[in-house]
Amino acid sequence: MGGFLYEGKTKIVEVVDDDSVILTFKDDITAGDGAKHDVMQKKGQMCSEITSRLMHYLNTKGIYTMFMNYIPPNKIRARKLKMIPLEVIVRFKKAGSFVRRYGGQEGEDLSSPLVEFTYKSDVMHDPLMCVEHLEVLGILDKNTALKVIESAKESAKLLKEFFEIHNFELWDIKFEYGIDSEGNICLGDEISPDTMRLRKAGEIFDKDIYRRNLGNPMEKYEVVLRVCQSILL
Ligand code: C5P
Repeated sequence: MGGFLYEGKTKIVEVVDDDSVILTFKDDITAGDGAKHDVMQKKGQMCSEITSRLMHYLNTKGIYTMFMNYIPPNKIRARKLKMIPLEVIVRFKKAGSFVRRYGGQEGEDLSSPLVEFTYKSDVMHDPLMCVEHLEVLGILDKNTALKVIESAKESAKLLKEFFEIHNFELWDIKFEYGIDSEGNICLGDEISPDTMRLRKAGEIFDKDIYRRNLGNPMEKYEVVLRVCQSILL
């Protein structure tokens, strides 16, 4: 049953048994649908540990995540899921592609949390989709899409509150979901500074440092890791 399953831009997935996989987090960092690519020492280690601790935190708050156990330095044993090819973005503030599409200022509050779906495809540049696209294209039925929206909002709110305790602002975050062997929706993939915008007193602690060539992102990822180490595994 063991063996290679899939290698993505930043992770390798290997099947362990019928119910679980091992995710190996690579040191690669990419932006712009893979157009920009570098390798940064310790990145895999940091992002796997941050993901482990944040998913464990969500598990303790009643959110069903893929996380089973952390295998230091850079692997996670996770529930085997059939991944849904969507990025589910929850935004609390305007930034990034939201500002490019709809205007406004980076960091401006949204009147209420916003959930967006994008279809995972580098060649199509992750097109934005509404619930009707998901239904018509057979990606998710309406009920499941609504469940994903609620779960993503709740998970993002819990993480926002966690980071607030440490004086960090969570501006937005991207989740990916899969379906487990019993048909349940489960939070998968990764939760790290690669997949969220995290700010403190005007300073950037996320992948925007890399996207915008603002210095060495790993120093800031290390700070985020230390905050997450307050969550005990
Ligand atoms: O670029 P955009 O504003 O759409 O990103 C919203 C959030 O989703 C950011 O936190 C970003 O890091 C994350 N994201 C991601 N993977 C992508 C696109 C966006 O993790 N492919």
